[in-house]
Amino acid sequence: MTLRERWQQVEERITRAAERCGRRRSDITLIAVTKKFPAGVIREAYDLGMREFGENYVQEFADKHPQLSGLAGVTYHLIGHLQSNKAKIAAEIFHCVQTVDSAKLAKRLDQLCARPLEVMIEVKLSEEESKAGAVPEEVPGIIDDIRAAPNLRLRGLMTMPPWSEDPENPRPYFRQLAAMARDHSLDCLSMGMSNDLETAIEEGATHVRVGTALFGPRTKP
Ligand SMILES: *Cc1c(COP(=O)(O)O)cnc(C)c1O
Repeated sequence: MTLRERWQQVEERITRAAERCGRRRSDITLIAVTKKFPAGVIREAYDLGMREFGENYVQEFADKHPQLSGLAGVTYHLIGHLQSNKAKIAAEIFHCVQTVDSAKLAKRLDQLCARPLEVMIEVKLSEEESKAGAVPEEVPGIIDDIRAAPNLRLRGLMTMPPWSEDPENPRPYFRQLAAMARDHSLDCLSMGMSNDLETAIEEGATHVRVGTALFGPRTKP
């Protein structure tokens, strides 16, 4: 199957899920996750019409970035954990950092960015050891700090539940994230991936992050 055909399938899934729960397709942003794929794949996706891209690793994207000049209207989201020693370069090459998980990191980004930077807070809702993100009790404080930061624009919350074959399993996590966003009057909810984007849309996702369903399996480096 070609990228165009896989994109059409993903678009149909998003549209059908939105219709099922009375939402508009235009309220949902598809983020094409291009980690482990070369810059040429981003260009190919851009040429087909995709405009929002997600990358996990700052250094990997910094290496691809010089090959991506001239893509007007493109938006790059950092969706992987950000170490503070990479904050400066991240603030330069990404439009939105979805993985702010501490007040300290928020402060650092605010000091380092040369232009207003969109951010989301990554929330850790499960007990899984490996998952990055702020625990729910920390979130109100981080929200206050980001709202007070002159160079940061708080868009919303992001989460990544434990991976599961069954797309129903993440539903309680998505629901919990949506409730937190409502409590804090935040508009954006970045949740849902290839396997569970329908569940996420039903629970209010405004940004779904889709890699495998668009680009196929990622090869190990
Ligand atoms: C890799 C990744 C995705 C995309 O996952 P797929 O299952 O390939 O769609 C989405 N979000 C994050 C945070 C990721 O790391």
